[in-house]
Amino acid sequence: MTTECDVLIVGGGPAGSSLAWGLRKSGLNILIIDKQSFPRNKVCAGWVTPEVMQILDVDLDAYARENVLQSIDGFLTSSLGDKMVHTHYDDVVSFGIRRSEFDHYLLKRCAAPVIYGKSFKSMKRSGDSWLVNDEIKTRLIIGAGGHFCPVSRLLGTKNGKKDSIVTAQEIEFELTEEQQQKCSLKAEEPELYFLKDLSGYAWAFRKGEYINIGLGREDNHKLSEHVQDFVEHLKREGKLGFDLPDRFKGHAYILQNQSSRKIIDDGVMLIGDAVGLAYPQSGEGIRPAVESALIAADVIKHCDGKYDLSSLAGYRDRLHARFGTPNPNRRSWMPHRIKQALARFLLGNKWFSRRVVIDQWFLQRKQVPLQIE
Ligand SMILES: Cc1cc2nc3c(=O)[nH]c(=O)nc-3n(C[C@H](O)[C@H](O)[C@H](O)COP(=O)(O)OP(=O)(O)OC[C@H]3O[C@@H](n4cnc5c(N)ncnc54)[C@H](O)[C@@H]3O)c2cc1C
Repeated sequence: MTTECDVLIVGGGPAGSSLAWGLRKSGLNILIIDKQSFPRNKVCAGWVTPEVMQILDVDLDAYARENVLQSIDGFLTSSLGDKMVHTHYDDVVSFGIRRSEFDHYLLKRCAAPVIYGKSFKSMKRSGDSWLVNDEIKTRLIIGAGGHFCPVSRLLGTKNGKKDSIVTAQEIEFELTEEQQQKCSLKAEEPELYFLKDLSGYAWAFRKGEYINIGLGREDNHKLSEHVQDFVEHLKREGKLGFDLPDRFKGHAYILQNQSSRKIIDDGVMLIGDAVGLAYPQSGEGIRPAVESALIAADVIKHCDGKYDLSSLAGYRDRLHARFGTPNPNRRSWMPHRIKQALARFLLGNKWFSRRVVIDQWFLQRKQVPLQIE
């Protein structure tokens, strides 16, 4: 028995569900497959900026009635081990969500049929269609399977040597009453600690009764040791008065503008982490995943049912216009040691912490929310 659809979305994360949501009034027959059943865990700190909620038209009150939605109106930042700088805002500048809840909410809301527990394994070209797993016939495949997206792999994509990859690990769990007493982190003010060698940062973040602690680096060098040092630092500072109940988990993903991955092919488009779109300074990947999906949806709607390479080229162009043209050779012009010394000084400065670290790097306040006509 063969199932038929116009658009097959491989992966029901924020990219896949946003694409289905963007196509909800298109009249196209859409099917999503995901290898997991939902709600599922996804390693993530769980920050989303208000722009993501705005772009996706999420009803915040309705969302918060059933899910954790932690408002954030300030940050504590520092170079790890140095004095922390406090930045406060008069309004809510970010939210803390739990990915198991957020991704499930978006997937249910997009109203497209989903086959859970179905892994994408193969695709064969036949005329202007694809036969996926020898059972699903479709005119267009959307690779939304995250960093390890199998569609991207079958397009021949390998991580280029110069692709800039961040590797991040985190732990998230519900605090017991006793742990809540022994945790001095404030829910509405996440703490960010930049690593001394400037290859990344660590975070400690309470959202409601949950806590998320993690660390991301632009290289994989001694990642577990850095994580362990960070946990010890939190304990020494009296922020955590208990041992963590589990191990840290994580994976790699590619930063924006530095990916050499293929984005389109005949009857194929990639979105989200499958392309490699996370913001370079913060590693935020949800917003670019959602925006790439909505751009892809708009291109699909204007394709008149033609999904060959040249009809889909507009997607690649609009992605580059939005996020910049990839240049895996881009390297910092400033010698590392000078950068290090300068950064420690700047991270102790209140103006720099607010205007550059938080406003630009973490909140992307200069990037206006995507608008699709
Ligand atoms: C430790 C860590 C912390 C992070 N913190 C943040 C943060 O706080 N804020 C932020 O914005 N970003 C964060 N990110 C990045 C963010 O998680 C990703 O950018 C985002 O999840 C990308 O969404 P996506 O939909 O492209 O992929 P994903 O969320 O990875 O979804 C891919 C989906 O595809 C499915 N899939 C995979 N393979 C197959 C297959 N063979 N067949 C069928 N289905 C398949 C998976 O089950 C999954 O549901 C973090 C990443 C890490 C590693």
